[in-house]
Amino acid sequence: MKLRVFKILKNTKVEGPETRYCIWVQGCSIHCKGCQAVHTWTHKGGKLYDTKTIVDDILSQKDIEGVTFLGGEPFEQAEALGEIAEVVKKAGLGVLCFSGNYLEDLKKDVKNQKLLSNIDLLIDSPFEIDKLDYSRPWCGSSNQRYHFLTDRYNKTIFENYQNKVEFNIYKDGSIFMNGMGNFKDIMHKVDLTQIIK
Ligand code: SF4
Repeated sequence: MKLRVFKILKNTKVEGPETRYCIWVQGCSIHCKGCQAVHTWTHKGGKLYDTKTIVDDILSQKDIEGVTFLGGEPFEQAEALGEIAEVVKKAGLGVLCFSGNYLEDLKKDVKNQKLLSNIDLLIDSPFEIDKLDYSRPWCGSSNQRYHFLTDRYNKTIFENYQNKVEFNIYKDGSIFMNGMGNFKDIMHKVDLTQIIK
């Protein structure tokens, strides 16, 4: 099965507990006002990957605690992500997934069942710019909800983690910033020469 992907980071510390393999899917129909990932909205962009290729890559990583699916809207490609989640969870990795939908609605669609049954922590609900709130880990508005669907993670995440960003600077000079925060503000404040030295 194919998965349309915006970006993969094989090792990040700011998209969930500990160190994670992170997949930003391409495509989101929800279009939240103030979304910081508008480049992931189109369903035509990104790159198509075979799910088996991604699974093999995840399982070849050392020292990751789990995987994170975000985007884009992961549940618009729930069947492909369900295949990935099922295998990596069996291999002992944790699964964190974001969604701009509500869990109650996701449960109604049979296509979502495999993914839902393999998620440890689901952070759901659309981003609401009027409820901007960076005080809780990994999400940006106070209406978003944390569903601990297994006992792998629990409320201690609120004590143990806070929002951070990472900069990935590539050989060609391009920069990818990820994590959670006001990206525009951060970019204005950051002096990259201080990061690189
Ligand atoms: S669900 Fe996520 S990616 Fe989609 S518009 Fe809302 S914040 Fe952006």
